[in-house]
Amino acid sequence: MRSPRTIYGPEHEQFRAAFRSFLQREALPHRERWLADGIIDRDFWKKAAADGFVAFTAPERFGGLGIDDFRFNAVIDEEVAYLGAATDAFQLTNDIVGPYFWDLASPEQQERWLPGIVDGSTVPAIAMTEPGTGSDLRGIRSTATRTDGGWLVNGSKTFITSGIQADLIIVAAKVVDPEINGIGLFVVDATTPGFRRGRKLDKVGRQAQDTAELFFDDVLVPDADVLGEAGRGLPLLMGNLAQERLAMAVSAIADAEQALQDTLEYVSTRTAFGAPVGTFQANRFSMADMVTEVRIGRVYVDDCIERQSRKALPDAEAAGAKYWATELQWRVLDRCLQLHGGYGYMNEYDIARRWRDARVQRIYGGTSEIMQEIVGRSIGL
Ligand SMILES: Cc1cc2nc3c(=O)[nH]c(=O)nc-3n(C[C@H](O)[C@H](O)[C@H](O)COP(=O)(O)OP(=O)(O)OC[C@H]3O[C@@H](n4cnc5c(N)ncnc54)[C@H](O)[C@@H]3O)c2cc1C
Repeated sequence: MRSPRTIYGPEHEQFRAAFRSFLQREALPHRERWLADGIIDRDFWKKAAADGFVAFTAPERFGGLGIDDFRFNAVIDEEVAYLGAATDAFQLTNDIVGPYFWDLASPEQQERWLPGIVDGSTVPAIAMTEPGTGSDLRGIRSTATRTDGGWLVNGSKTFITSGIQADLIIVAAKVVDPEINGIGLFVVDATTPGFRRGRKLDKVGRQAQDTAELFFDDVLVPDADVLGEAGRGLPLLMGNLAQERLAMAVSAIADAEQALQDTLEYVSTRTAFGAPVGTFQANRFSMADMVTEVRIGRVYVDDCIERQSRKALPDAEAAGAKYWATELQWRVLDRCLQLHGGYGYMNEYDIARRWRDARVQRIYGGTSEIMQEIVGRSIGL
């Protein structure tokens, strides 16, 4: 159910073919084991990095490809969704965490951190959400208190993607300093005393992706490991939200396209009352509605991808794209599962996994309600 695309050139399609064949070779044979273990292999990540699929936006002097064109990021997000490759690590590293390192880190910090992120030996994560607050970032209670030559970070975080594997974690914490008011971004090396991982969380879907609680007990972060200006963390966090949210919209449309393709095949062959179930008018209309809506979504999200590749996508539009595309994804996935009847509820069917995995898209990266708030405010309400 894929529409013709106009935003990609031959270089993007070559990249897509190479990444697709990489996933087919290196991810799909291990997927079931990763789902059972709740984590992907480190070795897989290093191979992905060696082949240029991780942190490729990083400058060439740090081992990256210096590709600052969101269309390449989108290709990766789409292929992970089409193939059901079961990991959020590409999106987290390339679209969400990576930009903090290449846009905000000082040259000295880049020198220390980027080579490891680019070669896959350093797994990065970002920790904003806490047990008591997620949507309301100003309400975080973790603190960073001034001490000689740095900051002592205290508090706890939860729902952190790659939290079990992470080596380098960007931690949002309230600055405790008589002269600075606000939130700071403190980069914590996971070997630092006082840092502790909690449970690997048991999720409804996305089981191959580790998600964890993290604890910080007087963790010393030297001044040299603060990203940007301490106290200016909130605007810095806001700065990357358009890309993060658009990436989720990109995954949403690709996932819906693939689910529709799989469902079309199913309803064309499954028979009841002497006819393929897809040929009953109710189901034919339902498929027609979904195919049409996903085609509309494709055009809308492609326009956003193209604008983001020129860094011209406003935050509120990215929020709207995330909101609308992930809500559409959910409606489509739920209906596609229904069209599979009882088989749709069996874990051995891909549609069941897609349905479970899709649910969180309306929650993480900012909930649908928060996205509606952002769009509403952007039109002056
Ligand atoms: C699998 C997974 C991975 C995640 N990965 C990360 C990660 O890597 N790093 C990280 O920092 N966080 C991560 N998160 C956290 C995620 O971003 C938050 O769960 C999300 O932002 C919502 O916050 P909350 O869970 O505290 O919900 P709450 O903020 O408590 O919201 C509860 C409900 O209230 C609604 N609500 C809140 N405020 C308003 C409002 N003003 N108007 C209307 N409704 C409102 C929400 O929409 C929601 O329905 C992850 C979450 C999950 C589930």
